[in-house]
Amino acid sequence: MKDDTLLVTEGRDPESHSGSVNPPVYHASTILFPSLAAQDAAEKNRYETIYYSRHGTPTTFALQDAVAKIEGGAKGQVAPSGVAAIATALTAFLQQGEHVLVPDNAYGPTRAFCDKSLSRMGVEVTYYDPLVGADIAGLIRDNTKVVFTESPGSLTFEVQDIPAIAEAAHAHGAVLIHDNTWASPLLFKSFEHGVDVSVHSATKYILGHSDAMLGVTVTTADAYLPLKRNTALFGQCAGPDDVFLALRGLRTLSVRMARHQENATVVARWLQSRPEVDRVLYPALEDDPGHTLWKRDFRGASGLFGVVLARPFERPALAAMLDNMTLFGMGFSWGGFESLMTLSDLSHERTTTRWDAPGPLLRLHIGLEDTDDLIADLEAGFARLTAAG
Ligand SMILES: *Cc1c(COP(=O)(O)O)cnc(C)c1O
Repeated sequence: MKDDTLLVTEGRDPESHSGSVNPPVYHASTILFPSLAAQDAAEKNRYETIYYSRHGTPTTFALQDAVAKIEGGAKGQVAPSGVAAIATALTAFLQQGEHVLVPDNAYGPTRAFCDKSLSRMGVEVTYYDPLVGADIAGLIRDNTKVVFTESPGSLTFEVQDIPAIAEAAHAHGAVLIHDNTWASPLLFKSFEHGVDVSVHSATKYILGHSDAMLGVTVTTADAYLPLKRNTALFGQCAGPDDVFLALRGLRTLSVRMARHQENATVVARWLQSRPEVDRVLYPALEDDPGHTLWKRDFRGASGLFGVVLARPFERPALAAMLDNMTLFGMGFSWGGFESLMTLSDLSHERTTTRWDAPGPLLRLHIGLEDTDDLIADLEAGFARLTAAG
């Protein structure tokens, strides 16, 4: 079946839930067994059945199955946040003395985990140019066990050649872990492109309403057990209400993503026409450097992009714009129904690639508001920016 149908039908079983269309919230810790034999059987199969709620409840299994099916992977696993999903995936496949390759534009907290936690475990981290493509083969060492990717990358939105990187990783027996948060399981089908483990901040588009934190990891059949075991070892699980919200958000993912892309494209094109703007970093635009790869591998774009300003505006001028926006909120995260704008700080985040820009970098999340209103808000913001600086 097609994606729109899967989003509506997967992870549902009304007959097991008194007819409820969406699986209800199971609040549980202890699961009672009718007999010793039943307990023994459940324990043997504890990752696949309802055994102890830390390992999953009917609500959790429903979400995991649905996300895995939509992305085209074998199995799903919830985590308490996107960062928890990333940390658990990395430590599932890395041990002391081993080596991991991470793109230089990775999400800041991913980088912090590599620098502060993986390094303490004795894992060596190399940051690579996200545009390296097949040449990543030259960076892979005998002890490289994981290649990490994120595309488009955080803040600067470079699109990676995931199939080429996957081929090189697999030729050396390394696992490819991919942060697929920007595209969601709908718009980049990780498992068609050689990914072994796909991590999502479900906080973003899967939940879609800026009201809970959650991570989801999707794996191939081979990668599932190491990931599941590590999740269990770290004692990770997610609250049932948040899992339910993700399952509910999933039902409208397709209509929301289509509108996010439509609105983002209108706003991005308008921004391209503005003298205050040097360039817009959005792979869905024809003149974006990542457009060809995006078009080859993605089924759509989300509503998140970067905007490089045309000259070095000072902080008070930026504050005059950002502090007084009507519709664009200023805050972290994204993927909800509402528009957001933040000032991106790249100063501590790059080591192997250079970032050249004539002015500051903004990150915009384009929500589901009317684009005329969003553009009017931005236009007034630019007037304040140029008046102040
Ligand atoms: C937000 C984000 C995360 C982390 O997700 P949380 O749910 O906030 O922990 C990971 N990767 C990317 C690309 C993100 O944007």
